[in-house]
Amino acid sequence: MSSSDTPAERMIGRILARPEFGRAEVVALLSAGGAEADDTIRRLAYEVKRAHVGPQVYLRGLVEISNVCAKNCLYCGIRRDARTPRYTMSRREILGCVRWIGEAGYGSVVLQAGERSDPRFVAFVESIVASIRRTMGDDFGITLACGEQSFETYLRWRQAGAHRYLLRIETSSESLYRQLHPLDHSFGGRVQCLEDLQDLGYQVGSGVMIGFPGQTIEDLADDLLFLRSIDVDMIGMGPYLAHHGTPLGANATDDDRESRLTLALRMISVARLLMPDVNIAATTALQALHPMGREMGLLAGANVLMPVVTPPEHRRYYVLYDERPCVEESAEECRACVAARIASIGESAALGVRGDPVHFAVR
Ligand code: SAH
Ligand code: SF4
Repeated sequence: MSSSDTPAERMIGRILARPEFGRAEVVALLSAGGAEADDTIRRLAYEVKRAHVGPQVYLRGLVEISNVCAKNCLYCGIRRDARTPRYTMSRREILGCVRWIGEAGYGSVVLQAGERSDPRFVAFVESIVASIRRTMGDDFGITLACGEQSFETYLRWRQAGAHRYLLRIETSSESLYRQLHPLDHSFGGRVQCLEDLQDLGYQVGSGVMIGFPGQTIEDLADDLLFLRSIDVDMIGMGPYLAHHGTPLGANATDDDRESRLTLALRMISVARLLMPDVNIAATTALQALHPMGREMGLLAGANVLMPVVTPPEHRRYYVLYDERPCVEESAEECRACVAARIASIGESAALGVRGDPVHFAVR
């Protein structure tokens, strides 16, 4: 920083120069207000991203393989009690999507689903993963996001060939966690899952929902420090968005879109400053708040996009929150759109590579 710096730049420079990047610093960065602070923090985070993980965007094709869920999270549109038609994609459909992802050069697939731990589902996922590994080879990334499972299940899926797992902690505050989930959830159980995944050698991604009722800036600062403390390799965070059919979203009003977007982008930037070499996703939920939300996420410090590949006939039933964007789009349309979006901010997609997080290699 030089003498011509703006007051916001000087203030942020002073925060970043403190030897201990702890709670007070994170709270200060998250709460620094005004357009100038916004620009400065985003620019610094973008510079850190370019220096540590480079200018390319990694792509993961997202296949939402089933919306059947045994859990009843109070915020989620496909919770057990939600009255929505249920689907589980067939093996053929899933492998067809994976082939498409390979041909599109995305380099990685994410298989996401509602949470089920019955033996049939566990074996289904295991066999799909094994087929993908066999047909796509070792240079193809296989990520699972299928919720909390036993150590044995995570082991089976790992042995079948999965090497990344996404499981959000949702909030690092135990009391907020209790407010978001029914009694059959436990915060400790979720943390245990993240530890099990790390012990099994997965690249582990976690994250939180940003801006749900009752959450404070201090909670969000603790969330980022929590993610750093468990040494995550990947971060997927997005704004909380109400679903009218859920207990948490039933009476929500759709206000403050801009400030909610700003807060979500700020979280990405501060995460990047705090954890320079992890992969950070610009999630679809950002786009629900603003048509350019994901590009803004990349400019705020994210380096991963997860274009949806789920066929439209299923996609319309995988609705976690109101106003899910791109519900009617096909994978092909998403591909063209994503390429244009990445080019529009002067970045390029890293095609044909797994795009492993730098952090995992050095951890
Ligand atoms: N069942 C798996 C994967 C599907 S849910 C699991 O729970 O991990 C994936 C993510 O969607 C959740 O982690 C949650 O953070 C997010 N999500 C669910 N409902 C949401 C909502 N109303 N607003 C924003 N994100 C939501
Ligand atoms: Fe099920 Fe995941 Fe939704 Fe919870 S967040 S209800 S586990 S799909």
